[in-house]
Amino acid sequence: MSDEIRLPKPEYASPPGVQHHVCEHDGCPKDAGWGFAKPKQAPHWFCFEHRCEGEKFL
Ligand SMILES: [Zn+2]
Repeated sequence: MSDEIRLPKPEYASPPGVQHHVCEHDGCPKDAGWGFAKPKQAPHWFCFEHRCEGEKFL
């Protein structure tokens, strides 16, 4: 959809293509480029559109 806003994606230790996460939003099949996690907890992953939902996990 609207792709005009480009935010820097967080860098993770794995090289591109190794980690593959799917957005946790119900029914959303997109690749999740944003991970949200508290220390010692499993991260939650969301796509660009739904990344605001991940902030609830912080
Ligand atoms: Zn999504």
